[in-house]
Amino acid sequence: MFSPKFDELVQALRTLPSVGPKSAQRMALNLVMKNKLQAEILANALHHAVNSIVTCQICHSLTEQDVCDICLAYDRDDGLLCVVESPADVLAIEQTGSFRGKYYVLGGHLSPLDGVGPEDIGIPSLMTRLKQGIVKEVILATNATVEGQATAHYLLEACKHLPLKLTRIAQGVPQGGELEYVDSHTLGQAMHHRLQFK
Ligand SMILES: [Zn+2]
Repeated sequence: MFSPKFDELVQALRTLPSVGPKSAQRMALNLVMKNKLQAEILANALHHAVNSIVTCQICHSLTEQDVCDICLAYDRDDGLLCVVESPADVLAIEQTGSFRGKYYVLGGHLSPLDGVGPEDIGIPSLMTRLKQGIVKEVILATNATVEGQATAHYLLEACKHLPLKLTRIAQGVPQGGELEYVDSHTLGQAMHHRLQFK
């Protein structure tokens, strides 16, 4: 429109979730016209984040080290493991302040139609961790979507023979809802009133 570089910026912004063509244009105009210093800060933050943030070797959440602070925390319960779909869910649960265990991030959910099987979401390494015997309770906190429920059921079956307590968060999370969009109080209640599966 104004210049190829402006179009490039709009296209780059459009790849962000929930950003349509109009919003992308508005953001690009704001950055190049009114907010040049802020744009430099944003570009630097983006560059540093992309280059420094990696996946935790234990829980597969995000960190700047090999192992994240939650996995390293000595004052959190190693016997309580919360299985979630994404690092955004870890943030959402942490913001409730009601969970003092550890996490395992699947990085997605089972979706046979899209070719996503157990190996693609780290279930074999989760099973290896569970077989070590340190974890006493697994909280299945996958989303309340069809795929999230299917993933929880798959894990329930996979863990049946292990000496574990298995629970599923339930109350308060709306049907079809994604954890990252549920408010902290509701999610805190859902964690507190989790259902025992086994
Ligand atoms: Zn970790």
